[in-house]
Amino acid sequence: MTAHDGMFIDGGWRPARGAGRTEVVNPATEQVIATVPAGTAEDVDDAVRAARAALPGWAATPPARRGELLTALSDALAARHEEIATTITAELGSPIGFARRVQAGLPVAVARSYADLAASHRFEERIGTSTVLHEPAGVVGAITPWNYPLHQVVAKVAPALAAGCTVVLKPAENTPLTARIFAECTAAAGLPAGVFNLVTGLGPEAGQALAEHPGVDLVSFTGSTAVGRRIGAVAGGAVKRVALELGGKSANVILPGADLDRAVRANVADVVRNAGQSCNALTRTLVHTDHYDEAVALAAEAAAEFAPGDPTDPDCRLGPVVSARQRDRVRELIRKGAAEGARVVTGGAEPPEGLDKGYYVRPTVLADVTPGMTVAREEIFGPVLSFLRYGDTDEALRLANDSDYGLSGAVWAADQDEAVAFARRMECGRVDINGGDFNIMAPFGGYKQSGVGRELGVHGLQEYLQTKSLQL
Ligand code: NAP
Ligand code: MG
Repeated sequence: MTAHDGMFIDGGWRPARGAGRTEVVNPATEQVIATVPAGTAEDVDDAVRAARAALPGWAATPPARRGELLTALSDALAARHEEIATTITAELGSPIGFARRVQAGLPVAVARSYADLAASHRFEERIGTSTVLHEPAGVVGAITPWNYPLHQVVAKVAPALAAGCTVVLKPAENTPLTARIFAECTAAAGLPAGVFNLVTGLGPEAGQALAEHPGVDLVSFTGSTAVGRRIGAVAGGAVKRVALELGGKSANVILPGADLDRAVRANVADVVRNAGQSCNALTRTLVHTDHYDEAVALAAEAAAEFAPGDPTDPDCRLGPVVSARQRDRVRELIRKGAAEGARVVTGGAEPPEGLDKGYYVRPTVLADVTPGMTVAREEIFGPVLSFLRYGDTDEALRLANDSDYGLSGAVWAADQDEAVAFARRMECGRVDINGGDFNIMAPFGGYKQSGVGRELGVHGLQEYLQTKSLQL
């Protein structure tokens, strides 16, 4: 058990203003592994002042120089790759192989992509007789969730810094240790004092103080729709810019003629990944009624291959979910699904056998799900797939779009053009065609209640810029 002290403010660790602390629990062992200070509005105020003081200098730093420092940040993250992976396994429960490859590896690449964009982006353009300047939006308040503890941080901080903004970060209560390593990496990279600041603590206290702070120009939030709505209201009231990356209930549409086996296996792997705790997880599977039983049987077979277990084991592919609260929520939603008439084909709400410690959930396939059921509408955030059936392509489209969310989706078809034509009619921000790979340069973000704004690539950079026109 390590008791960490201090907030990272103005280039170094300084004592927290209050005496409150939060505990970090390892979800596989249920042990408290560390405590960190619970930030107050006073800590947030200190951090915002530091970020404001650093803003003019950082905004005036040539973009190519900002790019060099982002390269150094990417290198600093790469140098601590193994420590970041083991930390994420300890505080989130991500299987170590996944933690190395994705949780720790992806942010190195994303930071690097913004180093390149800072150097290459045109921050000035000419429109007729005007010069248009793309200037930094100011001080950014970033509030992040626990499911991808480093990626969610880097997907905000790297574009903000590339744009010339300074940042105050409030990471999730469950995963502050990764955020502390990130803060140390910003110092190792040589970022000027105050350009990046970290305040750990609880959402309703530190997070809310950050969103409300008059010295914050832009709030970028990733997390639940319930909290996102409040943050959007606070930001709107103060006429602040806001970016919201919220939940999803994404549809995986398998059209007749698609490679059913491949489509279903990829779907199960997608939803089991990170114990189902991905906002873009493809949790609603839509299958033509002629292929439905076969698809459900394939899914049950594939899901059974993911036995929950110790995330430090390099062979583990399904670890625990993040917390007891999350486990209870997922199990309750499985029970609710069954109570509303869904058929539990494999898995279920009972604790997995042979694991007497840890917040584990069985990989679960629900069949006979209909559009009105809770499990077809609410984000479950656990390793749970819901199978719905359709009679024709128009019905498939109606079902796919019958959601308050619109984050992502997937289409499988025999023919690429057929899949693309379907994807054009989907109401969501991102669609994978026949298993298309994740692209870190492509915009990520939601339609409808999945959010406002985009992350990653040049679209992510533009969120942190504001434009000024000079008439010559
Ligand atoms: P959450 O409460 O929305 O947390 C996200 C972030 O917001 C955390 O840093 C949180 O701090 C902070 N926060 C909470 N209340 C706040 C407030 N009033 N003002 C400012 N900041 C606040 O999400 P969660 O409780 O961790 O998870 C709940 C559900 O959200 C999940 O079951 C899942 O459905 C969804 N979720 C979505 C994503 C995504 O990537 N879109 C990620 C995680 C969760 P604390 O950590 O202290 O609460
Ligand atoms: Mg919360």
